[in-house]
Amino acid sequence: MAGGGRLVFGVSGVRGVVGEGLTPEVAARFASAMGTWCGGGCVVVGRDTRPSGETLRGSVLAGLLATGCDVVDVGICPTPTVQLAVREHGAAGGVVITASHNPGEYNGLKFVSPRGIFLTPEEGIQLREIAEGGAFRGERPGARVREDPQAPGKHLAKVLALSLLDVSRIRAREFRVVLDVGNGAGGAVGIPLLEALGCQARVLNAEPTGVFSRGPEPVPENLAELSREVVGGGADIGFALDPDGDRLSIVTEEGEAIGEEYSLALAADLVLSRAGGGTVVTNLSTSRMVEKVAERWSGRVLRTPVGEVHVSLRMMADHAVVGGEGNGGVILPEAHFGRDGAVGMALVLELLADRGITASAAARGLPRYWMIKRKTPVAEGLVGRLAEVLWPFVAGAEVETSDGIRAAWEDAWLHVRISGTEPVVRVVAEAEDRSRAEALVEEALRLVSQG
Ligand code: MG
Repeated sequence: MAGGGRLVFGVSGVRGVVGEGLTPEVAARFASAMGTWCGGGCVVVGRDTRPSGETLRGSVLAGLLATGCDVVDVGICPTPTVQLAVREHGAAGGVVITASHNPGEYNGLKFVSPRGIFLTPEEGIQLREIAEGGAFRGERPGARVREDPQAPGKHLAKVLALSLLDVSRIRAREFRVVLDVGNGAGGAVGIPLLEALGCQARVLNAEPTGVFSRGPEPVPENLAELSREVVGGGADIGFALDPDGDRLSIVTEEGEAIGEEYSLALAADLVLSRAGGGTVVTNLSTSRMVEKVAERWSGRVLRTPVGEVHVSLRMMADHAVVGGEGNGGVILPEAHFGRDGAVGMALVLELLADRGITASAAARGLPRYWMIKRKTPVAEGLVGRLAEVLWPFVAGAEVETSDGIRAAWEDAWLHVRISGTEPVVRVVAEAEDRSRAEALVEEALRLVSQG
């Protein structure tokens, strides 16, 4: 986690501790920069449930109006709802007030381009330069805010209309589902989706207060309550979302939190089986399960640097049939090109209905790997030398250097990169054998800490 007083620049947005790195003034300035970048067109604004979102909303609206933008306010809703609404309204851009999976004291702004995807790194630099330069567009008489309370409903309709879904067959299964929305915004689409799919749904942490009663990231260690509720209630599956509803993770009917990597792998299994193969795009830190699924259906996997927009762009360029990130982010082009927890849930339920299997059987149908993730402070002089430092260690592997260095062997892979948002080196390894994954991580940590 980044230091409290800093404003952190990610690939496509900013975040910080509210009142420290991220003040109302900072939010207004970035909104004016976005309004200027958008040429004073229409901008869609939405937010997650964090209590600080209301104040920041005021700042963002002021910043946009001051630069002559009309605003469509879609209120509290998942990030993918905003991405869809940008396209739906033919808007010049979008702003999502969210700090995603970060703790409650954080908030942030994510910026959406007219294509309904996040700003590219180049566009993000343009925006930052406008924000720091302060040469904003002027006001326009008549610029106004209107609300679009139908945005989550339109998002829901889009998911239900996906050609991959056989809604009546899913409804016939009457799945018992426990959905843990973690006091976030994901319930705005997730809860009606499960109802529309005929599920007997029980919702945990349903109050959209932004006061997180579990760790906001949907990783297994935060899902003990969900596991208990699934087993105790005899449910078929448990779903957990992050606060802005773009990441999904799964608990099987046996109560096992299988981790976020499975969400994309299972979704890809369904999509590729229907498409008869095709291209899957994911980032360099995502599990090899995706490759195994692609092999099963004669598909191929393309890897990108970490960051949703990199995946979105590559999916558009290479006509991917499905994609996403191993952190539980599923992207289905027929819906839109952003990660979407509701799309992920629909695809997983379709998979279970289609194959007549349980969630645990679906998970067992994928090869099991050990994935180990660690981070360490960036040693002095390491920036720009990461590949050089690791090169001797990865000799003989298949090496890729578009985002740090990723080395793949027959039985394992290792990805080492310098974080864009924290002063740390991230090290991820995955192997069929746990000790192999651990050994790769340990050696990489040793080498990078020597710098
Ligand atoms: Mg998120």
